[in-house]
Amino acid sequence: MHEMSLCEGVLQVLEDEAKRQNFQRVKTVWLEIGSMSGVEVEAMRFCFDAVIRHTLADGAKLEIIEVPAEAWCLNCAQTVTVKQRYDACPNCGSYQLQVTRGDEMRIKELEVE
Ligand SMILES: [Zn+2]
Repeated sequence: MHEMSLCEGVLQVLEDEAKRQNFQRVKTVWLEIGSMSGVEVEAMRFCFDAVIRHTLADGAKLEIIEVPAEAWCLNCAQTVTVKQRYDACPNCGSYQLQVTRGDEMRIKELEVE
């Protein structure tokens, strides 16, 4: 499962940050997931709970923030909001869009102690 390796990546970041910032436990993780990232939120929650067991984040809460996707329309020369990859520009109907936001996943914030 794709989400399992993503969660392992998140845990790796938590462990690195714990060393760098010198904290012992992670209580909450806020994760931003772009609407075009292809990440399944429910699968993410399931894998997260499995991956954090017996780690510094054991029992941590996962807060997921879904980020709407944005793209740059070459034709309109402006940023537009799109729902899915390969959608046409909502203003002019052009398919010459470059996704600028919403196709990634990142850790926004951590609550630690
Ligand atoms: Zn356009």
